[in-house]
Amino acid sequence: MTVPSHAQVVVIGGGIIGCSTAYHLAKDHGADVVLLEQGKLTSGSTWHAAGLVGQLRSSASITKVLKYSVDLYKRLKDETGLETGWKMTGCLRLATNQDRWTEYKRLATTAGSFGMEMHLISADEVKRMWPLMEVSDLVGASWLPTDGQASPSDITQSLAKGARMHGAKIFEGVQVTGFAMEGARITGVHTNKGTILAEKVINCAGQWARQVGAMAGINVPLQPVKHQYIITDPIAGLSLDAPTLRDPDRRTYFKEEVGGLVMGGYEPNPQPWVTGDVPNDWEFGLFGDDFDHFEQHMEQAMLRVPALATAGLKQMINGSESFTPDGNFILGRAMECENMYVGAGFNAFGIASGGGAGWVLAEWAMTGEAPLDLWAVDILRFSDMHRDRQWVCDRTLEAYGKHYTIGFPHEEYTSGRPRIVSPLYDRLKAKRAVFGSKLGWERPNWFAPQGVEPRDIYSMGRQNWFEAVGAEHAHVRTHAGLFDQSSFAKYELSGPAAADALAHICAGHVGRPVGRVTYTQLLNTRGGIEADLTVARLAEDRFYIVTGTGFRTHDYAWIASHLPAAGCTLTDVTEAYGTLSLMGPNARDVLAAVTQQNVSNMAFPFGTVQDIAIAGAQVRALRLTYVGELGWELHVPISAIGEVYDELMAAGHGLRPVGYRCLESLRLEKGYRAWSSDITPNDTPHEAGLGWAVRKENAGFIGAQALANAGPLTKRFAGFTLDDASAVLVGRETILRDGVAVGYLTSGGYGYSIGKSIGYGYVRNSSGVSDDFLASGSYALVVASQSYPAEIILEAPFDPSNSRVKA
Ligand SMILES: Cc1cc2nc3c(=O)[nH]c(=O)nc-3n(C[C@H](O)[C@H](O)[C@H](O)COP(=O)(O)OP(=O)(O)OC[C@H]3O[C@@H](n4cnc5c(N)ncnc54)[C@H](O)[C@@H]3O)c2cc1C
Repeated sequence: MTVPSHAQVVVIGGGIIGCSTAYHLAKDHGADVVLLEQGKLTSGSTWHAAGLVGQLRSSASITKVLKYSVDLYKRLKDETGLETGWKMTGCLRLATNQDRWTEYKRLATTAGSFGMEMHLISADEVKRMWPLMEVSDLVGASWLPTDGQASPSDITQSLAKGARMHGAKIFEGVQVTGFAMEGARITGVHTNKGTILAEKVINCAGQWARQVGAMAGINVPLQPVKHQYIITDPIAGLSLDAPTLRDPDRRTYFKEEVGGLVMGGYEPNPQPWVTGDVPNDWEFGLFGDDFDHFEQHMEQAMLRVPALATAGLKQMINGSESFTPDGNFILGRAMECENMYVGAGFNAFGIASGGGAGWVLAEWAMTGEAPLDLWAVDILRFSDMHRDRQWVCDRTLEAYGKHYTIGFPHEEYTSGRPRIVSPLYDRLKAKRAVFGSKLGWERPNWFAPQGVEPRDIYSMGRQNWFEAVGAEHAHVRTHAGLFDQSSFAKYELSGPAAADALAHICAGHVGRPVGRVTYTQLLNTRGGIEADLTVARLAEDRFYIVTGTGFRTHDYAWIASHLPAAGCTLTDVTEAYGTLSLMGPNARDVLAAVTQQNVSNMAFPFGTVQDIAIAGAQVRALRLTYVGELGWELHVPISAIGEVYDELMAAGHGLRPVGYRCLESLRLEKGYRAWSSDITPNDTPHEAGLGWAVRKENAGFIGAQALANAGPLTKRFAGFTLDDASAVLVGRETILRDGVAVGYLTSGGYGYSIGKSIGYGYVRNSSGVSDDFLASGSYALVVASQSYPAEIILEAPFDPSNSRVKA
């Protein structure tokens, strides 16, 4: 066999993801595609998947991707003539306690927000639908009628046939052994059957994706983990149309298969496979049956379905699949290589995701931009720390173990911590800080007063930190608070071409005089918001860029990939500076006490940057605010941050350290948008109410054309408050206008100054959302399946007197 000498796109891996990607590349884009599989199609993880297909996720875009899969599996046979085994059996999820039940009420609301049908039903109804089940311990169940099951191998073969029908060439028994590279670009794919020159490469190599990525210098942080299920002989009384069943409180799932049951689970003590390379000769590979490890699932499952105790065991499957540190899959282009895209790490929902993942990945690879907000699965959510295989393994096992635990709001991972600490860690800990972690950094979430245990106690209602955060919030509004935001991502862009480059990349006017700070969005070609950050002009040819901790890799990659080939240099300086945000009406008094510099409003106006000396260190001070109070972000050389912190804290004027949960409450009251929730690649600045931050549409920045071509707005960002303090907003609650669903919350929380819950989201109307449309409706929010009257707020709900902010 010989492989072609050239291809526009080479897809590596003949599992469901590779075949779906090849299918969409060929069908939707008419691309010249070659797919290479080292064994046989499906012979990796795909052939032994159990085949449950669920759709609802916490991200609207990912839910859309999964819904697309189902639509595709329904219609694919008509196109290819090959069955997919799709059966719309629906899915039951069981609840045996009140917290789980609240989780389902919230999920049902999320489903409604995302346009999916989901019902909450009683134990009696469950029994009618699934008579073999023991239901005496049930509070109830959720019922998703459009979920189902499919045959993983059949879908994959059907996709492969569809891909071939549209011109893709598929080769089995061809192993990719390396890449020919020119700098950070792949020029050729080396295989055991020769080299293929390629313009783009898509790495769909499943649990091998990490080692395939490494051959091109990219990091794909995934961990192969063993996963087991059993298949029984036929069980009398089991309907062939029985819904798939998830029993998370017993950590197990079930699916009907030829009259018997498939039963597996997610144990709290998962077993990793290798942290090194996965053997390439693992075609149709399985591990030996491990009944000792599986016993925990068997015990629980027999309590739920007693007929299992006497059912004959047909087979045990002990396979391996790639899991990731946050339980989400990995798509997109890694920073280290210009033309390798990845689709891997499917956390045992690759069959459910396959159709949709292939669709968006093909689009992404062909256009260079994700077609919708795929941040939750973007490979750029990781950073260099994810090169540590042991860390990735530990965190992945924690995520696997939590697959079926109750998802409490604000829950933090515990493994692999602390990983990165600011030099203030010990000082803040001594002040009873309770830390969360973001991209490896420990960050104070809140400070426990004496008498309150310094740890999070999770619950579905108000959690144990609620009062303490309220006190921090009030303190910032009346005195001043100091936030350790050292984890902020920071870059410098310098060189003669820097100003022009930023003018092209930023929608806002960042080319202002030296010393000015500008808040701006970076847009994609659809006008969607790819990043939201501040740019300080330090010199004619030098800019300092600050963005959120979690977006470090993503924003850097976006900027770097849109820079001219020469004339400017982008440097990540995150670790060079710690950041102390000094916020509150007393901020100026505090600052004046520690620096000789004139920090009056005249001398140091809003939206400017100056170097000032504190405790002998040269501090880059940016006058801005994310909390709606007078404030400065102090960027301090990391070696001096301890002394600067001590000096500030000794200055008096009521300054105290405060945490991120307080910050969130303050920003909600001030109506500041958060990227990745309120503003995303799906939203334009005009839809988000940020049109004021955007230059004229003839200014030639990326996305300007799309903004110019856009018609009247059909969705607009708005805020809502609730008077009923018992309703806890966490995001994704449905917005009702005159009783009709018009959107859902993108953020939710509590505003302590106004004493109300606050939520934000987009109000949608296909014939336009005018001011009058927004203002004239009568609104309610559906919170955990219950409707609460809401008030729409088009201005920030809390506005500290302008004089205080600006004076
Ligand atoms: C026991 C078990 C049960 C599961 N149940 C479900 C379920 O019910 N529902 C669900 O949605 N998901 C389930 N999954 C998950 C599902 O199987 C995976 O998410 C999915 O199959 C991943 O597909 P893939 O294409 O990414 O990977 P794979 O199917 O592993 O395909 C990757 C392919 O790349 C090839 N390859 C690797 N390296 C090279 C190379 N160098 N050159 C050429 N080819 C290469 C491999 O040979 C392999 O065939 C389950 C997984 C397991 C282990």
